[in-house]
Amino acid sequence: MSANPIQLRRSSRFRLHRLSGPTIIKPVNSRVIRDVLNPDSRYLPPFRPMGANSSATDCTSSSAGTVIDLTCLNRIKNIDAYGDTVTVQPGVRIGDLARELAAQGLELGGSHDLMSRTVGGAVAGACIGPAFGDDGAFFASQVKSIRVITPNGKPIEIRRSQQNLLNAYRLSFGMLGVIDEITLKVRPIKPFAVTHRRCCFDQFAGVAEKLSNVDVGLKFYLLPFRDRVYLDLRRYSPAARSTRRIPWKIKDWGESTVLPKVFKSINRIVPLAGVRYRLIDEISQVTQGLVNNRLVSSGSNSTAQLSSTRKHDVANSLYYSTWFFPAADFAIVVQAYRDFCLRIHESSNYRCDMPTVGFRIGRDTSAMLSPSFDEPMVALRAISTQAQGWEDFAIDFGDFARHWGGVPIFNQTRDIPADYPQQVFGSRLTFFRKIRRQFDPENRMMNPFLSQYFL
Ligand SMILES: Cc1cc2nc3c(=O)[nH]c(=O)nc-3n(C[C@H](O)[C@H](O)[C@H](O)COP(=O)(O)OP(=O)(O)OC[C@H]3O[C@@H](n4cnc5c(N)ncnc54)[C@H](O)[C@@H]3O)c2cc1C
Repeated sequence: MSANPIQLRRSSRFRLHRLSGPTIIKPVNSRVIRDVLNPDSRYLPPFRPMGANSSATDCTSSSAGTVIDLTCLNRIKNIDAYGDTVTVQPGVRIGDLARELAAQGLELGGSHDLMSRTVGGAVAGACIGPAFGDDGAFFASQVKSIRVITPNGKPIEIRRSQQNLLNAYRLSFGMLGVIDEITLKVRPIKPFAVTHRRCCFDQFAGVAEKLSNVDVGLKFYLLPFRDRVYLDLRRYSPAARSTRRIPWKIKDWGESTVLPKVFKSINRIVPLAGVRYRLIDEISQVTQGLVNNRLVSSGSNSTAQLSSTRKHDVANSLYYSTWFFPAADFAIVVQAYRDFCLRIHESSNYRCDMPTVGFRIGRDTSAMLSPSFDEPMVALRAISTQAQGWEDFAIDFGDFARHWGGVPIFNQTRDIPADYPQQVFGSRLTFFRKIRRQFDPENRMMNPFLSQYFL
């Protein structure tokens, strides 16, 4: 066990003033978690579980309490190839799990990027990608059962028959206790075909409604300052081959390591904004053209998820905020988003240097706090390498999103006003709060960020 100060990210409307640092615990077995959460332990609340810490909000921070870093609980306990399940500890990285499953001809359902995140963080937080077919939109929908250490240090099992409780634990952001074992569905590797399209915003808006109603995995990249959209469309195809991993690795490396690093350097060395952003957009276009359009034409969740865990540092230095918009309105929203980016740049001089990434998110009722509980949504993630000006941009993006009926997600959406979640989650939020109070009547897992929405 160690005690180190961690740096708080300045997200949300709460500003935390650190008096003394939090204690950071790295449990190596479940008993440590039980001992830490035991009301008689010497560790101070609030207790905040933490996986890879790739979230964009303060959901993993505890200014003067205890952060429970679960990355050392990283054992794959059992792969059941006959029952199509895998049981893991919460700190297992998704990329490592995908690799072990692939060795047995298996893969995880859904389609999810950033494989350096942990299984626990992807279940308790939001984890989305270009999912399609029978896969739920959220990684958490793959959960069959879990074991949890409650806020008072008691272990409990939540089995597949306890669906309501499981639905509360999926996307619970660590408010109902620490998940210390997870059993997920797996399946034989299923190849899909990938096609790529390039168009302008108006053309994309013209097909947006059709795309949101067909069963394809859709990921897209928006370049508002070039009026360009790059689409990555995935469909199952028996003719597709899934074995070539190298192209996916190059694609992943290009998108999540090379581009952020190059853009950071350009921002440092090119002083003139006009020249700088021309160069940045040119590189984005070339990368999309080469890496995405040419490199990858087929794959499987297995090949797409085998990325390295080492890029985590680069990923963590990016600034991002994700909002979900009703798919039915997206044709209008995407055009309004382009106008919003241009307007903000003109008035504040700030713009995101990375392309905005989007996904089609199918209806998913497997979690009480699912943003697509009622209808299919489209997620938009604004991403930047630039800190200066980002906070104001995230606030403006929040205003824009709320105007268009945007739904937030508590670990990825910045600057959510305290009263807004009740408007969009309604009775589901009320019900979640009730369950939370039952599990944690003394609010031992609540930090100031979460208290805004859940007390
Ligand atoms: C560059 C970049 C790209 C990204 N791309 C995507 C993307 O494509 N799709 C996407 O959905 N997200 C994406 N994200 C966001 C983020 O990676 C996900 O939300 C991810 O699921 C968080 O996983 P984590 O292990 O980092 O969890 P953390 O950030 O550590 O935690 C997430 C939440 O879960 C809770 N938690 C963690 N472990 C446990 C546990 N064992 N028990 C109980 N509660 C727990 C935490 O308290 C927190 O509230 C991206 C982030 C970055 C930086």
